[in-house]
Amino acid sequence: MSELHKNLIDGEWVGGEAAENINPSNTNDVIGTFARATAEDTKNAIAAAKAAFPAWSRSGILERHAVLRKAADEILARKEELGKLLSREEGKTLPEGIGEVTRAGQIFDFFAGEALRLAGEILPSVRPGVGVEITREAVGVVGIITPWNFPIAIPAWKIAPALCYGNTIVFKPADLVPASSWAIVDILHRAGLPKGVLNLVMGRGSVVGQTMLESKDVNALTFTGSVGTGKKVAQASIDVGRKFQLEMGGKNPTIVLDDADLKVAVESVAQSAFFSTGQRCTASSRVIVTEGIHDKFVEALSERVRNLKVGDALAKGTEIGPVVDPSQLKQDTDYIEIGKSEGAKLVAGGDLLKLDTPGHYLQPALFVEATNQMRISREEIFGPVASVIRVKDYEEALATANDTEFGLSAGIVTTSLKYATHFKRNSEAGMVMVNVPTAGVDFHVPFGGRKGSSYGPREQGKYASEFFTVVKTAYTAAG
Ligand code: NAD
Repeated sequence: MSELHKNLIDGEWVGGEAAENINPSNTNDVIGTFARATAEDTKNAIAAAKAAFPAWSRSGILERHAVLRKAADEILARKEELGKLLSREEGKTLPEGIGEVTRAGQIFDFFAGEALRLAGEILPSVRPGVGVEITREAVGVVGIITPWNFPIAIPAWKIAPALCYGNTIVFKPADLVPASSWAIVDILHRAGLPKGVLNLVMGRGSVVGQTMLESKDVNALTFTGSVGTGKKVAQASIDVGRKFQLEMGGKNPTIVLDDADLKVAVESVAQSAFFSTGQRCTASSRVIVTEGIHDKFVEALSERVRNLKVGDALAKGTEIGPVVDPSQLKQDTDYIEIGKSEGAKLVAGGDLLKLDTPGHYLQPALFVEATNQMRISREEIFGPVASVIRVKDYEEALATANDTEFGLSAGIVTTSLKYATHFKRNSEAGMVMVNVPTAGVDFHVPFGGRKGSSYGPREQGKYASEFFTVVKTAYTAAG
């Protein structure tokens, strides 16, 4: 058995029950063994973060800047190696893995800069002779719970701002993909964080996550994952009276209008729906197409989908890696059967593939003649499965796009300035894309959704300060 990767609690590496991390492209390949924290370990981590908070929250901005800067430099210097590790454990292709690691490095770099740009406001009071200062302070111990589909970028976009603004952290990555998270914590630990400031507790949601939810000493909790778990986070956080932030599922639409450039439409939808094996919260699984372009668009997209190269995530030329694990694969194939039974027509893909290595391979599936009322159009599948919904005109397309309980990302492919502008203003999604895929966002601007997709302030960019700080208003009489 390979060396055990331990949890980091109060500056010490702590062992425990070992779990194997399996490569979804080749289930014979064990990436490593990783400790699973107990409830006791988690409580120790929370206590360590609490003890470390007073000193870290008052640390100099240069100290925080230096740690974040060093981490950014190491992540970017090791992007090929870490990208390979990420692709091996999660199954996205190597260019996608390296891209995600690069983004994590850029996020640390951005927040290294933000640490030097902390600012408040000074205002005159309505009472003569009194001054008012508005400042932002760290919240306290921040609990971070992340999903498996972005094993390094999502931890980065939560850990970097939490540290930048002076919080201490208890971090629980997804059980399926601990290696990338372990690597990022190791980098930050060696970059010089004082003990207890960042604690890593790998393991099960029902044990580690649940212990974090129930703790009164976790002052803020930032969560990305499914709607079901998000609701538990919300309920538990209300019970203990803590600040919380949720980023959850999506059922993101892409509208293709008659005036669209066909090539742009096909490539944008193929990428949005199927790249990263469709395992992105911003993936587009509802493609809403107006009558005039419908048939030629479906023909061209079907052709593209049939030719998408599915394979080992690390192999050259692979466009679509494997599904992450057997349970997600079952969910995908179950939805393909549901789609058929609901009367949608499968025009491309949907078959399980047997390749050279044993992996969870699925040819991306494209349905047509779907309606927006079908389960495949309403529920998040989180796999390479998309359906085309035919509509009469832009007005019907917009109404269909907004007719969902989610609101993360929404796209339109059009050459009309009028429709593009109208859609930007009237889409009920947090992020709107015109002639670009629904997935794929910048690291320096706000990220997040509306309706059932998100709760609380936006993540990333300078907007991250809204969650990771609390505002203080101080009045001083000049005397
Ligand atoms: P999940 O909800 O199963 O797990 C997310 C995390 O919560 C994991 O670390 C898990 O161990 C933990 N967890 C599970 N039970 C818990 C409990 N009782 N208490 C505390 N923590 C618990 O989600 P997943 O399958 O890892 O990820 C897929 C989901 O994530 C999809 O719905 C996807 O849309 C969503 N997602 C959303 C965004 C976004 O920004 N909106 C980004 C990526 C993924």
